[in-house]
Amino acid sequence: MNYSKKTVKDVDVKGKKVLLRCDFNVPMAKDGSGVITDDKRIRAALPTIRYLLDQGAAVIACSHMGKPAATFESYQKKQLEKGKDKASITEEKWKKSLAELSLKPVAVRLGELLGMDVLMAADVVGADAQAKAAALQPGQILLLENTRFEKGETKNDPELAKKMAGMAQVYVSDAFGAVHRAHASTAGVAAYLPAVSGFLIQKELDFIGGALAKPKRPLVAILGGSKVSSKIGVINNLLEIADTIIIGGGMAYTFSAAQGGKVGDSLLEADWKDYALEMVQKAGEKGVKLLLPVDTVIADKFAPDADSKVVKAGEIPDGWQGLDIGPETVKLYCQAVQGAGTVIWNGPMGVFEFAAFAKGTEAVAEALSRTEAITIIGGGDSAAAVQQLGYADKMSHISTGGGASLEFMEGKELPGVACLLDA
Ligand code: ADP
Ligand code: MG
Repeated sequence: MNYSKKTVKDVDVKGKKVLLRCDFNVPMAKDGSGVITDDKRIRAALPTIRYLLDQGAAVIACSHMGKPAATFESYQKKQLEKGKDKASITEEKWKKSLAELSLKPVAVRLGELLGMDVLMAADVVGADAQAKAAALQPGQILLLENTRFEKGETKNDPELAKKMAGMAQVYVSDAFGAVHRAHASTAGVAAYLPAVSGFLIQKELDFIGGALAKPKRPLVAILGGSKVSSKIGVINNLLEIADTIIIGGGMAYTFSAAQGGKVGDSLLEADWKDYALEMVQKAGEKGVKLLLPVDTVIADKFAPDADSKVVKAGEIPDGWQGLDIGPETVKLYCQAVQGAGTVIWNGPMGVFEFAAFAKGTEAVAEALSRTEAITIIGGGDSAAAVQQLGYADKMSHISTGGGASLEFMEGKELPGVACLLDA
């Protein structure tokens, strides 16, 4: 995939209507009150929005939110699958479920952050959206309703894409969190308009794309998290690119078990043992240094207040489970990071959500904060860990897309990036 794409700076947007795809899929309070519990994603979109408005564009912003059922039939089907009684599934409840996924609270918050009025459309491509988009003046911003209220969105329906594109003259994508999906608003529209990236996507392409295509070497990849099965693609792709691969987190126990170690009650994916051995072999063939834990912190239960002790890797007694890398492993991994040109980190080293088992993750974060290397954090939980432990502003780049950054590191083509104009 070509990671070098035209950006908002490469097109003239003065006096033009710009359709801007954002990722405003923010977490909302569970009680349906419409309170946004974290506005990070809205803040992240501000630089591109401000730039476009300053340039004299009229901005038509759009985003998805959650997973609404776009039709009553699909709502009914989902509820039946959940085991709900057919008589209890009403149109009224469906409409309420949609109202809870309205972008109206986002328009309010965005207006507060921008210090200006943000117009809100009652639909995506309906009469209200069309009228408001047509009347929109340079320097003004309109937010369309949740794109997934249209059933054509997730199907990448060309008719829907054409209607969305018809409201604007330029398409700007800044929704990195959604670029791994080929939907009407993330990819389809680009067939009908000149399509470029906003600043958020540009930064993701510069850092992650740069590290994959022409990394400053040595390139060290730190891979952890819970399961091998969810990281196969990443391990496989990085084995082609990296100089060193470090394995930690829950997936390390599948490697350990595959090599004949005792892993007690640790997270183990027995079906993936052969694969783990294959990866070890592939690393050997490719001359990639593959580091596995030499010791581990074990617990007598999966709980924050569990009894814990340190044992050698592969010597975990029954009734115990590994929840973090051990102190010798921490030393080894921190040394491996010294002198790196680039470090890509995906997946925590242990159950960092429990303070007693966050030491390995914290030590690695700390080591990254001290290196001269370009440091890139991908993956939703890894980003959360780095933030929670207070190292966020010490990293070169923390990806804003969980699933998208994983697919990027797997070397997959991202439809929402591939559709943009090459630079
Ligand atoms: P990311 O979202 O960054 O890609 P993952 O989703 O793969 O990361 O993994 C994150 C989760 O892995 C965390 O919730 C963490 O508690 C869990 N985890 C890490 N190490 C272990 C372990 N030894 N046992 C069980 N779970 C673990
Ligand atoms: Mg995760």
